[in-house]
Amino acid sequence: MNSPLKNSIQKIRPVIKDIQAYHVADARGLIKLDAMENPYQLSEGLKAKLQARLSEAELNRYPDPSAAALRDKLREVMRVPQGKSIVLGNGSDELIQMLAMAVAEHDGNDDVCLMSFDPGFVMYKMIADFTGIRYVGVSLDENFSLDMESTCQSIAENQPSIIFVAYPNNPSANCFNVKDIEEIITLAPGMVVLDEAYNPFAQTSFMDRLDEFDNLLVMRTVSKMGLAGLRLGVLCGHPDIIAEIDKIRLPYNINVLTQLTAELVLDNADELDQQAKIIREQREVLLQQMSLQSHLQVFPSQANFILFRVLNKNANDVFESIKQSGVLIKNMKAVTGLLNNCLRVTVGTPEENQAFITALGKALRD
Ligand code: PMP
Repeated sequence: MNSPLKNSIQKIRPVIKDIQAYHVADARGLIKLDAMENPYQLSEGLKAKLQARLSEAELNRYPDPSAAALRDKLREVMRVPQGKSIVLGNGSDELIQMLAMAVAEHDGNDDVCLMSFDPGFVMYKMIADFTGIRYVGVSLDENFSLDMESTCQSIAENQPSIIFVAYPNNPSANCFNVKDIEEIITLAPGMVVLDEAYNPFAQTSFMDRLDEFDNLLVMRTVSKMGLAGLRLGVLCGHPDIIAEIDKIRLPYNINVLTQLTAELVLDNADELDQQAKIIREQREVLLQQMSLQSHLQVFPSQANFILFRVLNKNANDVFESIKQSGVLIKNMKAVTGLLNNCLRVTVGTPEENQAFITALGKALRD
């Protein structure tokens, strides 16, 4: 029987109905090591300055549509080369969406392809699906390195309008080989986005190479730096490309509170740098402690998280046992393929990491 509700749902594209909504786990009461957040708050001194600054915010007014002051600050802190432009997003997720919308055909033309690498960041495929673009995920090899033979073949066959390279990659935490990435940028028939979300922990970047490649875009976020709650992503590249992407941006996508907060915190960027340094040190401690556990395959990390495979048990049981001990990590939920029986943990404070190590030891023993 027809009903307004049924009719409405029927109008929604089948591809949307088929999408599994992005699941965010309930972390209430748990030590939260599932989402690559920085575990540290701002200092009391900076919080007090922020409170004073935000109390003056003109919430009755729309924000500066181009966030000019904030873009200048980001240009300085992220060392964006002279002559390159910046567009901001409500998180880098929104920038991925803007880029996809820029290349998507309205009729869902199958010729438009978004390429990335699997296993990789799930939003590339999800957004390709939303926007009616064909997603091609080239499989990494068993060490999570780029397989250049299949990559080159796939670029030739699919002629992707846009290629996303996460550097370091999520969930594998490694940085791909620089020469391989250069080859991809050179072969690509369109834009190549280096997604440097984890840059504070990798300390290697393509930002200073933007001048060499006109089709290269570098994307950053403040989320992993310690400001995930703000939702602020940054896309840098050739002014002619950024000008096109900027047309898709909704006029006031960066709200007043985000603009003011980010400007103030970035004026004190050394505080975030110091936190990133501690997290990098803690990552090494955690890697060392995890490598002492038998029955684990621990993958190297240049990010603020570690991917590992459980060798003696079902990873679902290990995940649940760790959760029972009060620590939430990420279950990759794979029973085959490159992520088979893998879990992922975010580097937290020394105390949180210790709680994880204790919970992990118990889970592997029980
Ligand atoms: N890129 C990668 C590789 C990520 O892992 C994530 C978040 N997990 C993002 C982008 C999204 O970051 P943001 O919070 O800026 O939307």
